[in-house]
Amino acid sequence: MSAPIVSNDAAPLVEARGLTKHYPVGGGFFAREKLVVRALDGVDLALRPGETLGIVGESGCGKSTLGRCLLRLVEPTAGEVRFDGRDVLTLPAADLRRMRRAMQIIFQDPYASLNPRMRVGAIVAEGIEVHGLAEGAEKRRRVEELLRQVGLGSEHADRYPHEFSGGQRQRIGIARALAVGPRFIVADEPVSALDLSIQAQVLNLLMDLQEQMGLAYLFISHDLRVVEHISHRVAVMYLGRIVERAPRALLYANPRHPYTRALLAAVPVADPRHRPVRAPLQGDVPSPLKPPSGCSFHPRCPYAEPRCRSDVPALVEGAGGHAVACHVFPAPTE
Ligand code: ADP
Ligand code: MG
Repeated sequence: MSAPIVSNDAAPLVEARGLTKHYPVGGGFFAREKLVVRALDGVDLALRPGETLGIVGESGCGKSTLGRCLLRLVEPTAGEVRFDGRDVLTLPAADLRRMRRAMQIIFQDPYASLNPRMRVGAIVAEGIEVHGLAEGAEKRRRVEELLRQVGLGSEHADRYPHEFSGGQRQRIGIARALAVGPRFIVADEPVSALDLSIQAQVLNLLMDLQEQMGLAYLFISHDLRVVEHISHRVAVMYLGRIVERAPRALLYANPRHPYTRALLAAVPVADPRHRPVRAPLQGDVPSPLKPPSGCSFHPRCPYAEPRCRSDVPALVEGAGGHAVACHVFPAPTE
């Protein structure tokens, strides 16, 4: 199974322009120099209804910050976010609260985000209550329906989170997100804590729900192979920026950016006779407190040229919607 088909001419549901988040850190009151973590640095994106944009990069590249800024769970330092054409960042509190119904998030570790002292039925019902969507028998009916939709039974409503496996807990987290009728879901490493066989089940569930409800997903993972299955388009992030973005088939068939290619080379291959020919990634992600000059990937890049140390490469879109930010391997022109 692969991601459901999306209409190409639908208006974007979620749009970001120049989205930036700098966290001030340390320094102290008397410090001369203010230090900032450049967690997110000028990200543009657009997401249509029913579409999944995969976001990939090593830990610390700003993926979670991007997801949280889109939902305004953290306040961006600069930039613009539009949801359904409305400016999310200037919305008054009451309007933002209403909009929150339409924008939900699911996390890597559902156990940490499920209250251990609440029964599953109450956990799933919470959003319905907060937004005054249903009461009494109607509320119970909706909770049972939600549990069924995510592959659990109505009898599970009376149990506690610890009575469930990791995969089932993620299903509870998904039911809770769906309870308020969202149109956009940020899925932040939703299967990273699960066994491989369970990962596939949860990915298939997310794709089924997308097809039924036309949900848009920002699907975050550090693993390019996980997002391949579910994404319509994939964006690769490095130190707070998108370095490559393309429709799924183009990205995996013709990865351009040396960072994307290194990430693909790091993925274990199923057939050991076909070992990756490219060198895997050396070293760690540099600190976003002091990102390298020019292309921030240049210290780890086997192809770096002098201009890569001085000039920041712009993300330029080429043929087929394939965008690359690299001086040496620009976007394909045909
Ligand atoms: P990812 O999800 O890709 O692992 P994050 O968005 O969590 O990356 O983090 C991006 C960078 O921002 C990291 O260097 C992280 O340490 C830093 N960061 C995240 N949250 C905060 C915070 N509240 N204060 C300071 N730095 C933060
Ligand atoms: Mg993260």
